[in-house]
Amino acid sequence: MNPDRLRARRLLGELRDLRAAAASLSDALVLLGAEGRVRWCNASALRLLGLAWPRDRDTVLAEHFAGHELGAWLREGGTEPDDVAAPVDPAMRLQVELIPYGERRHLLLARDISRVSRLEQVRRDFVANVSHELRTPLTVIHGYLELLDPEDVPALAPVLNEMRTQSQRMRQIVEDLLELSRLEMQQHVPEERVEMAPLLESLRREAEALSHGKHHVAVEGEGHLDLLGSPKDLHSAFSNLVSNAVRYTSEGGSITIRWKRVGTGAEYSVTDTGYGIPADHLSRLTERFYRVSSSRSRATGGTGLGLSIVKHVLNLHDAQLRIESEPGKGSTFTCVFGQARLLEAP
Ligand code: ADP
Repeated sequence: MNPDRLRARRLLGELRDLRAAAASLSDALVLLGAEGRVRWCNASALRLLGLAWPRDRDTVLAEHFAGHELGAWLREGGTEPDDVAAPVDPAMRLQVELIPYGERRHLLLARDISRVSRLEQVRRDFVANVSHELRTPLTVIHGYLELLDPEDVPALAPVLNEMRTQSQRMRQIVEDLLELSRLEMQQHVPEERVEMAPLLESLRREAEALSHGKHHVAVEGEGHLDLLGSPKDLHSAFSNLVSNAVRYTSEGGSITIRWKRVGTGAEYSVTDTGYGIPADHLSRLTERFYRVSSSRSRATGGTGLGLSIVKHVLNLHDAQLRIESEPGKGSTFTCVFGQARLLEAP
């Protein structure tokens, strides 16, 4: 056979092979051309997206799924991978990703993550239920402990004091877990004006009260700039960072709370001259119960949940947490807000 025809036949064989492999994937695969028109899709696209080949050839996908979460995500450009309800079954969750290739071409990948989502929901419900169930008995125990006066039974005074401290700690853990559950279930935050000038003043007072005069506390604020979001949740996140700075800085150190405009938005930060954190711990700090030193965290009344709460609150406000730290020198925790979250103070 002529070598050109032989080559063409071999290439055709390889192309068929590739298509057959893509067709048999358990994930839905859709090749999109200009304007997001379907050029090809595999068999799983029928099961997960309700698309069929060749019936839906040339369909504009964003229009085809108008009215669905998937359509909205495609219209916004699908720049970030996301979880959406499957158009064929609202109970099915899909992880979707749009990968650009070639010239104005995109590959849409959709994976069924219903099982993982269900397990995640079971975990969330379990934590919320356990925390809720523990709240009442703990309140009762704590109440009785408060009634007992250590001075009436001097021999038991150290034991009673320890029991009070531990029951208070348990109560704080339960409250923090409930707060995390509430934040996890929340999709959006209220769009209220968060007045930064009084908030910074109240954070300064909190820092001074926690520090008992053992640290130098300073506030540097952009007085004319407010935030848009949940006043309660932002206060909780900002105050968590202040409380950490006080707890992880030894006597005589400084704590600076800053609120300033930057090129792309604004930043709230808390800088301390405390113990600092070794670099290999930084990426894990926002995990629940992750501590660099358990004994130090416990000794200062920590629950190990503060930074997880901060991260959730920031996620709900489309903001990010940046952590810079040097052991022995101190740390800066920065909340980075985009322009859309800023309001000029009246
Ligand atoms: P905790 O209640 O233990 O303070 P967090 O979630 O607030 O829990 O913080 C997690 C861990 O990060 C802390 O246990 C501590 O090891 C470290 N950390 C947080 N803030 C600071 C800080 N300002 N300086 C040094 N270490 C910190």
